Amino acid sequence: MELTPLPAFNDNYIWMMRVGSRAWVVDPGQAEPVLLALARDGLGLEGILITHHHGDHTGGVSALRQATGAAVHGPAGEDLPEPCLRLHAGDTVEVMGTSFAVMDVPGHTAGHIAFLGQPEQQAPLVFCGDTLFSAGCGRLFEGTAAQMHASLSALAALPDDTRVCCAHEYTLSNLAFAATVEPNNSEITQHTVRCRAWRQEQLPTLPSTLGLEKRINPFLRAHLPSVRAAAMGYDAGTSDNPVSVFSTLRQWKNAF
Ligand code: ZN
Ligand code: FE
Repeated sequence: MELTPLPAFNDNYIWMMRVGSRAWVVDPGQAEPVLLALARDGLGLEGILITHHHGDHTGGVSALRQATGAAVHGPAGEDLPEPCLRLHAGDTVEVMGTSFAVMDVPGHTAGHIAFLGQPEQQAPLVFCGDTLFSAGCGRLFEGTAAQMHASLSALAALPDDTRVCCAHEYTLSNLAFAATVEPNNSEITQHTVRCRAWRQEQLPTLPSTLGLEKRINPFLRAHLPSVRAAAMGYDAGTSDNPVSVFSTLRQWKNAF
């Protein structure tokens, strides 16, 4: 299976999976980038996966379904373009020979899901939408800090070599925040240098890996003393537990 991020809007990625001339996409906020890739490479679109209801993830779904007949799969608990096959946590979707398991990851939206799969002879991968970004996480539009912290903890429990396929190219701005929280974390500094070079070449900084995210992403590091101390420095009302630290980090990032 080949995995390609198709740029959309200013900073979205529509992840395309292909096997031979068959393709699936994840979160097509626009139809055009997908239709161009299909035409350029002579591919047929078989299916669409949706992580959550926001327009920058669903805006292209109806046009793509009409143009290609692709089957649409999305979270059970969200308002989505119909017809859509509805998925619950624990369900699986067969994607060109790879089985993807559905995880509930509420917080950014109430019904947000992620798709976890392991193509043959490859590292696992997760399509996490706007839940986990490289060096950051999604805003809490419909969920609580406790929900988002639990969702990120469930993602962090996946194997370190899991490829993290986020829906936005926010990495450099997230790394600037991460470096403010942890100025002495040299992995953040080193990864910033790598990502700047990639972005100068207009290359994506994704997929990341969970192993890397656990070392650079402050939102996966709320349990560490250095991150807790930084959060308390920003807001003295922060208490000792990781959810409180996470909540302060999220508010700090909103204002950053
Ligand atoms: Zn979103
Ligand atoms: Fe988004």
